[in-house]
Amino acid sequence: MPESWSSKNKPPQRAELPLTPGYVYDPVFLEHDTGDHPENARRLEAIITGLDAKFIRQQLKSMPARPATLDELTAIHQAEYVKRIEAFCQNGGGSWDADTVMSKGSYKAALYAAGGCIAAVEAVVKKVIPSAYALVRPPGHHATSNNAMGFCLFNNVAIAASYALKKFKMERVLIIDFDVHHGNGTQEAFAHNPYVLYVSTHQYPLFPGTGHLNEVGQSSGAGTAINIPLPAGCGDNEYKQVFDEIIVPAAQRFKPELILVSAGYDGHWADDLSNMRLTLDGYYYLTRIIQQLAAELCGGRTVFCLEGGYNLQVLSCAVNATFNLWLGEKLLDDPLGQPPYKSSPRGVIELIAEVKKRHGLY
Ligand SMILES: [Zn+2]
Repeated sequence: MPESWSSKNKPPQRAELPLTPGYVYDPVFLEHDTGDHPENARRLEAIITGLDAKFIRQQLKSMPARPATLDELTAIHQAEYVKRIEAFCQNGGGSWDADTVMSKGSYKAALYAAGGCIAAVEAVVKKVIPSAYALVRPPGHHATSNNAMGFCLFNNVAIAASYALKKFKMERVLIIDFDVHHGNGTQEAFAHNPYVLYVSTHQYPLFPGTGHLNEVGQSSGAGTAINIPLPAGCGDNEYKQVFDEIIVPAAQRFKPELILVSAGYDGHWADDLSNMRLTLDGYYYLTRIIQQLAAELCGGRTVFCLEGGYNLQVLSCAVNATFNLWLGEKLLDDPLGQPPYKSSPRGVIELIAEVKKRHGLY
């Protein structure tokens, strides 16, 4: 029988993916006791309370967290550094540096945060769930191979990406980092690695000081770091332009097998740790773009890893909106609305043009 006839009469391929998105959460994350620090256990409590208030959690698949193994951690961190963190916490913790605080329970929480992100990746790649949000703490994207900094102990997203490369022999993992700070640790982890494309939007200059547009990766990783260092005062319009003009074409060119997201909500206008002007509607737009990219490029496979975000209302509403989007409900609850005053940051159009030119995105 002619080829064309037989192929025409095959039953239409049905989507194999189940519709229920997943999440990773474990009360062990609350044992990272930082007291009155902005990165505290109340952040996750607010997220979970917010999900339950809207009956969202019961619609999701709960994926158990597990501790990352030493092998998994040392894909990114030096073994000696892991031991130092363990010993520091065993001795009761304290201030590691001016920003980063640990308690006795922090080591265990950090092991589970990294392992929780791995569990989310594993479930998504094995198609147990189409997408997942790892609601973890401590956050990770500032943690370097041999140091904790910026509230981060182990680099959860980098450890999860490395796991995807090794365990599933992936060759193209995209990390989108929309936390308002540059993920210096993640960039460092994959600076020489052509299999991970790291794309970051961040306020610049701001902590940790890295993320200049000239930082593009090194040696065989050259071109696989795309930094979009935005001036203070950027809001929804500027972020939309950046996503539409840089991140979408860069992702389409890279053709990822998996998209990981360093999701931080500290660029919201009501967050005290930055001077950006994003709204919840703006975050919703970015999340939708990422969802569309994942659907177009990698069968929807997306794992969000929680990074920063210190306004509890913003955190709760943004995470609710992400799950609602994944559940197909398109609901956005935005009690905070627009920033109280307008701002017009300068040089964003020129910056976008420069980044596009630097990375050959036309
Ligand atoms: Zn941040």
